[in-house]
Amino acid sequence: MTDRNWGHCQHCRYFASPARIPVGSEEARCLQPELSRFELKVFGSCGCRAFELRAGLAKELEEPISHITA
Ligand code: SF4
Repeated sequence: MTDRNWGHCQHCRYFASPARIPVGSEEARCLQPELSRFELKVFGSCGCRAFELRAGLAKELEEPISHITA
């Protein structure tokens, strides 16, 4: 099963990093409107289904991986 809305925090518009291209080991606040009240700090390598692509990044970074075979 693929989840088209799931993506990594490092590529998400709500990841409060000042970096243009955040990395997986970076830690920052999640500013997603429904989650921000929890004052979450997340790593760039984390992710969730509220993901929205960060401005300036290519959508290929977070495409579903259903094409990969074992
Ligand atoms: S927790 Fe979800 S909404 Fe928040 S930065 Fe990470 S992917 Fe984006």
